[in-house]
This record gives sequence, structure tokens and C-alpha cells, in this order.
Amino acid sequence: MEWEEDAREIVNAIPVHDIIKNLIIIWAEKLARKNKRDMVTMEEMAQTRDDYFEWFGPEKIAKIQQAREEGQSDEDLDPEIALNKDPALYTIELCHSRFFGCDRDLINVREIGKRVKQKMEELKITDILADKACEVLMPHSTFTISISGCSNICTAAESKEVGIHGTSKPMVTEVECSQCRSCVETCLDRIITIEDGGPVINEDYCKICGDCIRVCPTGTLKASDKGCRIMVGGTFGRFAQYGKELYHNAETDKIFPILEACVDLVKKEWAEDHEDHFSFVINRTGISPIFEHLKNAGKL
Ligand code: SF4
Ligand code: SF4
Ligand code: SF4
Repeated sequence: MEWEEDAREIVNAIPVHDIIKNLIIIWAEKLARKNKRDMVTMEEMAQTRDDYFEWFGPEKIAKIQQAREEGQSDEDLDPEIALNKDPALYTIELCHSRFFGCDRDLINVREIGKRVKQKMEELKITDILADKACEVLMPHSTFTISISGCSNICTAAESKEVGIHGTSKPMVTEVECSQCRSCVETCLDRIITIEDGGPVINEDYCKICGDCIRVCPTGTLKASDKGCRIMVGGTFGRFAQYGKELYHNAETDKIFPILEACVDLVKKEWAEDHEDHFSFVINRTGISPIFEHLKNAGKL
């Protein structure tokens, strides 16, 4: 689609990472089609800017503008690049909260990402996997770790060798409910009802995303536990499977002994005479060796 020069200049000047900038371009072109134009004009660009600025909110806009004024490049702003740029047989994916945070994030993916990298280096996973490899190394030879800020799981953590996302489990307190219904309307899983004047949560289906807690104005809903969900052995493609859940809502410090246990399992169980994968290892052994390792290390 064609662009008016002024409109293109505005999109170029919006101080966001290229990933988001490309989405802004697509949104502006959608608006132009809606307005029956074959060119993005200032009208669509102004609307696009308003739509995105409303979505980001003033706090995030201020952070973005400050980072650009300080001359930070996309690379400076994206911690995932630094986590994955050295030769290594692991990759660490972080959700979009890695840039300027996200209204929904429950854990700091930047901080956890750095600590995970440190741990994987300490455990020498690269040397271990390289020594076990029976074919030349390719991208699928890497051990994938994915960290998302909340149970929206924007990094598809369920399909990674180790998948992590932030959690916040709601509890109903004694504080009187104003029956504003914000929690009912916010819960994407539609599992909250207001009964006898207070909220009732169908816990069997709760994704422990903490959204209802965030919007409750009275404090009737509070977090009983905050932490992360940890899964292992997920993969995608030909042998796609969800990771098996180790912990539903654990302290984030639990991640590190679990990484130790996973690398120990790789050392002991990864086949050397044919191509292997951590999901196959987990299918062969189950998750009990991981809990055994944690027990022996006093970190169950
Ligand atoms: S996973 Fe959650 S915190 Fe991360 S970008 Fe998605 S919605 Fe935001
Ligand atoms: S934590 Fe999330 S899924 Fe659970 S009740 Fe609250 S909003 Fe719904
Ligand atoms: S958001 Fe809080 S105050 Fe409003 S209905 Fe839900 S529990 Fe009650």
C-alpha cells in the first residue's frame, strides 16, 4: 500500500521497537482499507497513533520516549538479543514484557532471563549437548527455555523444553465486595460469579493470571500466592506435545534447581547413538527423576 510522506514520517518517528512498529504499519493500512483508500494518509496515521498510545498508556509512553532520548537502540532495548548472541546450545525466549513491562506481568522476565543464562552457562549445557550430538548442530539442537510474564504465555512456553510463566492465585478476603463486577467482566475464562454478595471462583478452571485481583477496587480479591508455573518436555512440530507441569504456582527460585535437575537428566539419559530430544527423554523417564533430584538436593 502507498503511504503519504507525512504519514510515513510519523510512523518512523514513533519511538518503539521494530517488532511493534511493523504491527503499527499493518494497523494503519487496515484503517486505510476501512476508509476505502489505497494510501495511508495522515488521518489513518493520527488514528493509529491514538489507538496505540491509548493501549500503551502514559507511563509506558514516557519510558519509551526516555529510552529513545537517551539514544538507546532496538538492540539496547531488547534483552533477548544479549541472552542469545553468544555461541550456545540453549535459547532463552522472553515475552514482550521484556521491553517496557506489560500491564499483566507477574514476574520480571528480564531479571529471570539473566539468571537463567548464568545458570545454563554454569551447568555447561552447551558442551554436554555438543559432546552427545551425533549429527552436525542445527537450530533444533538447542535446549529451549521460555519465560512469560503471565498465563497468557505469549512465548508459547508450553512447547519448550523448560517453560515458565508468572502466576498469581486469587483468594477471597473478608473485605466487603462492592459488587462492581469488574472481576467478572475481566476474567477471560468467565469463571467468576457473584453469589450472596461476594465473588465465587471456579478454581478448577482458574489460570491464576491475577487479572481479577488487579481490577478489584476493594481488596476483596487478593493474591494468596504469587510465583510461577514450570513445565518441562514440551516441543512443537512433528512430535508436538505440551510440557508436563512440575509446579502450578511455585516460588521463582525453584526454577534454578529445576534447571540443574534437567541438565542432570540430559547427562544421564540423552542418547548418543541417534538424534535425541529432551521431550523424548521426559517421555522415557517421566518427571519423577526431576523430583528425585530436587529431593536429594533438599530443594523439593
Ligand atoms: S505473557 Fe503476559 S506479561 Fe508477557 S507480554 Fe503476554 S500478556 Fe504481557
Ligand atoms: S486469576 Fe485469572 S483466570 Fe483466575 S479467576 Fe482471576 S481472572 Fe479468572
Ligand atoms: S472486583 Fe472486587 S469488589 Fe468488584 S465485584 Fe469483584 S470482588 Fe467485588
